Amino acid sequence: MNEGKIFVVGIGPGGREHMTGAAIEAIGRSDAVIGYKTYIELIEDMLLDKEILGYGMKREVERCRAALELAEKGRTVALVSSGDCGVYGMAGIMLEIAAESGCESDIEIVPGVPAANSAAACLGAPLMHDYATISLSDLLTDWSAIEKRLDCAAQADFVICLYNPRSHGRREHIEKARNIIMKHRAEGTPVGIVRSAMREGQFATVTTLGEMLSHDIDMLTTVIIGNSKTYASELGIITPRGYKR
Ligand code: SAH
Repeated sequence: MNEGKIFVVGIGPGGREHMTGAAIEAIGRSDAVIGYKTYIELIEDMLLDKEILGYGMKREVERCRAALELAEKGRTVALVSSGDCGVYGMAGIMLEIAAESGCESDIEIVPGVPAANSAAACLGAPLMHDYATISLSDLLTDWSAIEKRLDCAAQADFVICLYNPRSHGRREHIEKARNIIMKHRAEGTPVGIVRSAMREGQFATVTTLGEMLSHDIDMLTTVIIGNSKTYASELGIITPRGYKR
């Protein structure tokens, strides 16, 4: 074991008040911070005394190699992800690369609030029962596997959270996903659409499975589709847990 250390940090949805104390401490202890440029911008004010390595999208492996190199020189590095770093984030690829390369630096995973949960909080209480998160990005996953997961999750009556709902600019993914889910669920099923949850520009709306495609849905959006018991009330979307009253 050398002296270097890598923190893989989930910074939460964006607003500082939703970042954990442990994440703030990990970034504070690091002398270099690595991440996707957009996330670096969200925490810029915390990085004044640090070396910053900002990357474009799809350069995840390079980011991990850079973290390893710095740690091997004895540096303390924070590799940042939005939301939770272990949910479609950097934790997995960092550990894969470290394991392959026989890394001798200490690696610590620091969790954060994932988009599913910050989006849910903007809508009410839609995730009160079993739920599945499904990413519609087919960059790293075959579309046929995504379709199968959508179909099975809908059939099993999971509440469904759709991440990356508009894969690299293509509209048809969200349409296809909605149509698969509607094979098993009523048109009137409540759907919450949340853009930029818990960060500047937050927008949340409640609609239905039948109507959801008439709303703007982009890569900054998480879509939550209720199960067969979910209802929309004046206080927001509620998925009953089933408590006897
Ligand atoms: N690790 C992240 C997810 C990264 S995948 C997490 O745990 O939240 C990127 C996708 O997450 C986006 O396409 C969007 O669907 C969702 N997302 C991330 N931040 C969001 C936010 N603040 N509001 C709504 N959706 C968000």
